[in-house]
Amino acid sequence: MKHPITLTRRGYLAALALLGLLPRDRAGADQPAEPTPTGKTVLIVVGPSNHPPGTHEVAAGGRVMEFSLQQASGIGPIRTRVTMGWPHEEPWLDSVDTVVFIGDEFPPHKLPNSEGIMSELTAMMDRGCGIACIHFATGLREPDVAPDGEHPLLHWMGGYFASRCSHHKSIARIFPAAEILPATSADAGGSPHPVLRGWQAFTLNDEPYIDNYFGPPGHAQKAGLIEFAVSMLPPEAPRRQVVAWGIERPDGGRGFGIVMPHYYRNWQLADLRTLILNGIVWSAGAEIPADGVRVNLPDLSTFEPAGS
Ligand SMILES: [Zn+2]
Repeated sequence: MKHPITLTRRGYLAALALLGLLPRDRAGADQPAEPTPTGKTVLIVVGPSNHPPGTHEVAAGGRVMEFSLQQASGIGPIRTRVTMGWPHEEPWLDSVDTVVFIGDEFPPHKLPNSEGIMSELTAMMDRGCGIACIHFATGLREPDVAPDGEHPLLHWMGGYFASRCSHHKSIARIFPAAEILPATSADAGGSPHPVLRGWQAFTLNDEPYIDNYFGPPGHAQKAGLIEFAVSMLPPEAPRRQVVAWGIERPDGGRGFGIVMPHYYRNWQLADLRTLILNGIVWSAGAEIPADGVRVNLPDLSTFEPAGS
């Protein structure tokens, strides 16, 4: 498969250096990642995307997340790696605390050697590694799931965007003014869930998928699905839609799914960004600061989207 993404890391890093914003403790894709004794390691896997400039922008989105995790205040040392595609059989995969996917559909099914990726990923999940999927990376299609909708991602992450499946139909549609509200999830002690820290209700023009799939009736409740963000959509027939969620698995790992952003420009929205970063940090098993994972981003063009 032709990979449509061109990474120009040199220009991106040069721009950050000029701004005095070079990420600290960055491992980079080409250097071995020595596990930090006290910190967490976040692997960001950029999958294929065929979406036009300004939408999805998966490589630039990966860089935004990397930068944000490096620069955010109040979180411990976080080591990040961004890879284009899956880093097959790398020994450092053993030290990864969470793997973040961004791409068109769940990247393990779109990248070469899908079976090999799923096997390595399964081993990671079994040892309690976290997983987070952003926007279309939450998506599974008919050929990838069992006729009844069964798929490992349902258990690793609690749910998925059922894209053109026959067992369940999720909907992808642009909503010019979708209001995203924090859900009322609490942690085991009854306090507001840490992923809800530091962000408030916001409205955006985007494509938050609706009617996402959380398993057969009763499954979500049994699995302990945690709702982080909801929206009343579609506007003409509003129903409570879960647009960001999480799960704590029996293997000790955590999964986080969020069905935004479709538009690259929406990474500018501090509330959305904090929600996503909180989810990633939580999935890695790290503490979330009282005011959430916050970062001041330079202009989004710094991260070299195709549409800049
Ligand atoms: Zn989209």
